[in-house]
Formats: sequence, C-alpha cells, structure tokens
Amino acid sequence: MQKPVGSLFAPYDPQYDPVTDEGPGINRDYAPTYWIGTAGTPPADDGPIQGDVDCDVAIIGSGYTGLSAAIHLAREHGIKATVLEANRVAWGCSTRNGGQAQISSGRLKRSQWIERWGIDVARRMHAEIAEAFDLFRDLVKDIDCEAQDGGHLYIAHKPSVMPALEKESALLNDTFGYASRILSRDEVHADFVADREAAGAMYEPDGMGIHAAKLAFGYHKLARSLGAKIHTASPVQSWETRGGVHHLHTPGGTVRARAVGLATAGYTSPDLNKLTRHRLMPILSNSVVTRPLSDAEIEACGFKARFPLTDTRTLRHYYRFMPDGRFQIGSRSAITGRDAPNAKHLDVLIDGMKRKFPALDGVQLDYSWWGWVDVSHDMMPRIFQPDREQSIFYAMGYGGNGVMYSAQAGRRMAQMIAGSGKEPDLPIFTSPLPHHGLLTPFRRLGQRMMYRWYQFNDEKR
Ligand SMILES: Cc1cc2nc3c(=O)[nH]c(=O)nc-3n(C[C@H](O)[C@H](O)[C@H](O)COP(=O)(O)OP(=O)(O)OC[C@H]3O[C@@H](n4cnc5c(N)ncnc54)[C@H](O)[C@@H]3O)c2cc1C
Repeated sequence: MQKPVGSLFAPYDPQYDPVTDEGPGINRDYAPTYWIGTAGTPPADDGPIQGDVDCDVAIIGSGYTGLSAAIHLAREHGIKATVLEANRVAWGCSTRNGGQAQISSGRLKRSQWIERWGIDVARRMHAEIAEAFDLFRDLVKDIDCEAQDGGHLYIAHKPSVMPALEKESALLNDTFGYASRILSRDEVHADFVADREAAGAMYEPDGMGIHAAKLAFGYHKLARSLGAKIHTASPVQSWETRGGVHHLHTPGGTVRARAVGLATAGYTSPDLNKLTRHRLMPILSNSVVTRPLSDAEIEACGFKARFPLTDTRTLRHYYRFMPDGRFQIGSRSAITGRDAPNAKHLDVLIDGMKRKFPALDGVQLDYSWWGWVDVSHDMMPRIFQPDREQSIFYAMGYGGNGVMYSAQAGRRMAQMIAGSGKEPDLPIFTSPLPHHGLLTPFRRLGQRMMYRWYQFNDEKR
C-alpha cells in the first residue's frame, strides 16, 4: 500500500479522472488555482491517521459539504466528527470553483421543479433554498473570504432566450414571491456589465461572490475549533461493516465509526461504497483568471457589477470581476481526465471570453485550472440515507451549484446522522441519487453526443 512521504505532497495530477482512476490519490498537492495562489498558507490540520481510531461519526471528504457536516454535528448535536480527506484540506471542487453563490442547488430551474414535483413541493423546495442562503450568509459573515454580496445576473446570451427568461422571472415573482427583475440589454450594459452577447438579463437579489479557498479554510478552522478532527492524506481505500461498525481503512490505520457521512462529490470512486457506485456523472469544468485589468480595460468591459454572472447557455459561462481587479471566467471542459490539459479546451474558453469582452482579446491569463463537478442524473442533489439498516449517509450531486447549498446540505446530513428528524419532507431528502443503470458503459459516449447537441442549440440564433 502506497504511503504519504513525510510532509511532502505528492504532485498534483492534472489528468486524474474519477471514472477510470482508483481513487483521488494520497496527499496530492492542490490544483494550481487562483484561490490557492492567493489564500496564504493552508491552516493546520490533524495530519494523517496514524494507528487505529474509534469515533462516533466519520465524514469522508473535507470540502464544503464535509466541513459543514462537521460544523453542524458539533454545533447542533454535540458530536465531534472525524473528517477523512485523501489529499489536502478541501482539495476537490471546494478550492477549484468559480466562487459563485447562487439561490439554487442543482441545475433545475423553478419551472422544472414544478413540472417534476408540482407546485406545493416546488414552493417548499424554494423555502429550503432560501433558508440555505440565510445559513450561508451567516457562516460567511465571520469568515474573511472577500465576499461580494449583491445579487446574480442570469444573462441572455442571445435574443431568442429572452421570452423564456421573462416567463421564469414572472414565475419567480408570482408563484414564489421572489423579487427577480428583467433587464434590457441597455440596462445590463449601463448598470452592470458590457457583455457584448447580452440580449438582456434576469436579476436575482441573492447572489454572492466569495474567495473559494478562504471560505473552505474558514469552514475548516471553525470545524476544528468546535472539536472536529480533520485528517488529511487519509484516503478511505476500503470499507467493511461488522456488527454495525464501519471499518474505514486508510494507509495509516483503520477508523472505526458508528456512522459515516459521504461528502466526496465528483471525486467519489466507484469502489468506495456500492450505495454511491455509478450514481454521479463527474463532469469537467475549467476556469481562468486574468492578470489585474487596467482602468481602460475595466471601462471597456463595463465591469460595474461586483457579483456573480452566468449566461443562459446549457454549457454555460460563469464569470465575474474580482475584488483585486482581475476577471474570472469558466465553462465546461474535456470529457476525460486524460484530455483535460489539451489546449483546445482552454481555447474554447478564451474564445467565449473574447466574444463577451473583445477588449480582453490577448489578455494574459495568470491562472488556469479544472475540476470535476458532481452532476446527478436528474440534475438535483441528494442528502440521503440509502439503506435504513445501515448508518451511511451521503450529500452530493449539486451539478455545479454547490458553493452555497453545500453549507445547508452538510447541515441536513448532520441532522440525519444525529437522527433529529429535522429535515423537511422533500424529494432531495427522501429518494436516492438515480443510478446510471444499463447506460454505465456508454455514459461518456452519451456525454459527448449531448455536448454536441447542447452546443448546437446554444449557438444557433
Ligand atoms: C471549475 C469549477 C467551477 C465551479 N464553479 C462553481 C460556482 O461558481 N458556483 C457553485 O455553486 N459551484 C461551483 N462548482 C461546484 C462546487 O465547487 C461544488 O459543488 C462544491 O465545492 C462541492 O463541495 P463538496 O464538499 O461536496 O465536494 P469537494 O469539494 O469536491 O470535496 C470532495 C473531497 O472528497 C475527497 N475524497 C474523495 N474520495 C475520498 C476518499 N476515498 N477518502 C477520503 N477523501 C476522499 C476529495 O479528495 C475531495 O477533497 C464548480 C466546480 C468546478 C470544478
């Protein structure tokens, strides 16, 4: 069994692929993100597991979800969890994202919730997401993570999507009592951002930009201050359950736990546990951050909005003007880990940036990275106990919208683990992540075909 070496980190593997690789590695270094480059030294942790350990609750994964679960287990239930992380603290998506907190959880819009579940469930789901944003704001206010609060603009990338956007905004206002607002192209350009593609936009009052790694490190420090142990370089490599006790085998020893919370998102290895096997489609998203922009460039791009922006493409762009004067933009990337470093994916992203902001043509990119987003088959997350006979719980499947909702998902998983019965009666808490079924061997072929179709639809006028 491979062991971590002293205090050195194993190199970051840009081609890591959760579908084909055995696991996320052992003690690997961070992806070269803007967040890691500017967050300062990561906070102290409890080091690798050394010897066998007994605990009430083990959480696997130290991203936002796992850390929030540890925070809320301690705060609301008096349980000091043991968090196991394969690599460094918050090594996965939680130090790689775009830092955009939005009033959503999975990929579905409110109108799609109604189609799927009917109006009553959709209204309760909206209340859950609104409560989640309150929790998120409350956590963020005590963490120095460069929060840029002020809303979110959902930007129509072509005129033909405006009627659907207007309909969604009316639904938000009339059915959910949520004060969204439709803006014309001129209003977007005058008051928010001179995105050349913008045909108009929907403004949502809830939206916040954050520094992804500073937020993760803030959660980490809070969890430890409440008594949680966070063990890095401690991948769970195998797992057996005997007499109701989970034996989680890591390179340094076995953790024996009465209950286990899985917070491994897009980095969940198929072999970790059969209850999560083939239930997520990890999808690559890439992101770049430019050098600090000049005043003339900022003026030309009309960057007045200091909060998250996304466009209406299915293969959407997410972007924002950062507190230090840089510009960040991300979108979808390669299908496989092996193809991720291929320059053509970066070229597609740069082309998207240029179409929106011609003044940024040729601008130097100081950071470029990618990570695996946890997309579920029905585009909504689950916080769930898949088998009542087993004290195993999971919280995952946010589909690229986990920055905000992972705080509440971790809290809900903590409530389930503690058996508090506080979680509302909603499908995301009462049903499992759908399984790939017979499509498992063909999922990447399917993804390739879907990307072509989405791209065709996104770009046709
Ligand atoms: C490029 C990119 C941009 C994104 N932008 C946004 C955005 O702007 N807004 C938004 O809302 N969302 C965004 N997301 C998604 C968001 O980052 C995630 O939803 C969120 O970070 C999920 O957090 P998590 O804690 O559930 O998982 P992660 O942060 O991925 O953490 C999972 C952890 O589990 C660990 N792990 C896995 N297996 C094991 C094991 N066997 N043993 C021990 N540890 C293990 C991994 O090492 C990893 O650290 C983006 C994602 C990417 C990749």
